[in-house]
Amino acid sequence: MELIKDFLLSEVGDAQFFLYSGNSPEPRKLIVGGLHGSEGKTTVKLLRKFISVKAEGTVAMINFTQRVKYVSTLNKKFYGTKVGAKLIRVIAVFKPSVYVELHSYSTKNYNKLVDPGIRWMKGVPPLVELEKGFLLGSVSPPLRFSMFNLDDFCAALEIPRKTNDMKVGEWIVEQALKSRDREEAFQRISERYPEQMHKLNKYFIELSKKTPYFSGEMNRG
Ligand SMILES: [Zn+2]
Repeated sequence: MELIKDFLLSEVGDAQFFLYSGNSPEPRKLIVGGLHGSEGKTTVKLLRKFISVKAEGTVAMINFTQRVKYVSTLNKKFYGTKVGAKLIRVIAVFKPSVYVELHSYSTKNYNKLVDPGIRWMKGVPPLVELEKGFLLGSVSPPLRFSMFNLDDFCAALEIPRKTNDMKVGEWIVEQALKSRDREEAFQRISERYPEQMHKLNKYFIELSKKTPYFSGEMNRG
């Protein structure tokens, strides 16, 4: 476990926020933000709520950066950027079974994120609104299907950029931290957002059918 902590520190020593807490090796949970653009300014506000987090297993939280060029995580080029490449190395070594990617969006882009037509054209399912502008959805398919197992929980949470109310986001991260895999996290979140999770599950099955499962492809470089 110490080795993993050292590795993470060596990879993300320049991160805006880094937290590592572990009482047992498994399950491993990774929460990240600040992947592109200036989203890190918003996502760090949510991560800071977990400064003294205690969860079963090992938790790593990283806000990579506050400002960097915007390259969409849906674009394979993202994984060649400094932050994208670090993210891949961290996932490859840390091997989380629970992974939450925090993003933030400007409300003028709301429709693009929830519109099924636009999203499926980009190869991803639409995001679904939980409440108060917090949107939940799949992470980028190349990442999802090469770095994770199907029973791992992977989610992208979009935070409205100017919000002062992080409660919905906090609750989602809390459920992820309480869970060890996809099934458990889905169950927990479904208790509060049954319709939304039903929809997301349907989208995920659709996405799995569309996307070849190419295990380890990104590990090979
Ligand atoms: Zn983003």
